[in-house]
Amino acid sequence: MSDMTVIGLGAMGTALAEAFLNKGYAVTVWNRSPAKAHALAAKGAIMAASVEDAVRSSPLIVVCLLVYDTVHEALAPAREELSGRTLVNLTNGTPEQARATSHWAATHGANYVDGGIMAVPPMIGGQHALILYSGSRQAFDAHSKQLDALGTSKYLGEDAGLAPLQDIALLAGMYGLFGGVMQALALTGSAGIAAGEFMPLLMSWLHAMQGGLPKWAEQIDAGDHTSNVVSNLGMQADAYANLIDAGTAAGISSELVLPMQRLMKRGVAAGKANADLTSLVELLRSPEQVD
Ligand code: NDP
Repeated sequence: MSDMTVIGLGAMGTALAEAFLNKGYAVTVWNRSPAKAHALAAKGAIMAASVEDAVRSSPLIVVCLLVYDTVHEALAPAREELSGRTLVNLTNGTPEQARATSHWAATHGANYVDGGIMAVPPMIGGQHALILYSGSRQAFDAHSKQLDALGTSKYLGEDAGLAPLQDIALLAGMYGLFGGVMQALALTGSAGIAAGEFMPLLMSWLHAMQGGLPKWAEQIDAGDHTSNVVSNLGMQADAYANLIDAGTAAGISSELVLPMQRLMKRGVAAGKANADLTSLVELLRSPEQVD
């Protein structure tokens, strides 16, 4: 019997299995393409001959596959073996998919914990690898020591959808940042300024802007977007038009920046010109107002 089984040995699953091995655990592994298990076997992992054998080998089954459809497809032959085991699914997905998979696991007698990995593979095993968990508290507590081998664990609650929800929210913040950085570098590049030359200025600016985010949280939680406004929406909407015009004049696509302008215009039209930018969060929560 192994301590845990890792199913899915892509870039992330391989890193997860390695982190368990590095902590001295007995690890069984399975992957659709068996060749990916060879390097882990050389480090001590046991290669299961089938997914059924893989599930039978351990009380703790950690799954990290491409998408949830893949999880269901891969685990289907082993569903009868899941009874009494804990299934920890670290595949990226939606809260709805996590809840449905939790229900599916329960019908097969398995305890279910969903997870969101906030790290890239080389970070796994280090304290900066944050892994969000939600689902069965009892199952999480029973295996938290083993799961801590992967990074810093954070349990969010019994609703299996909580980890993917907050995972996706963090990714939304990340992609917003990345989109802005791409736009900035396309613009400066069009003027012959190297990305490496501009990056220190950009990083310093983004760092300074992050400092205002706790105030955003206070305003959004209080539903008060009009007290202590120093940069009102109307002013920002006018400045934002310059951002688009300057890009267009430089031959830069506006496909990343136009949706934000549309939301700002909706806010101004809704009478929020004197409010803070945070008031736009309420518009996002009112999709029926989308034109
Ligand atoms: P990879 O593309 O490297 O690996 C995909 C894995 O899914 C492989 O094990 C692959 O098997 C398997 N797979 C795909 N389709 C099927 C199928 N139909 N049946 C069985 N197995 C299948 O992806 P990653 O390992 O990078 O990502 C895995 C999960 O981790 C994803 O949900 C991803 O979003 C998440 N994640 C990844 C991060 C990263 O930076 N890599 C960061 C945070 C989360 P095979 O080898 O046979 O093709």
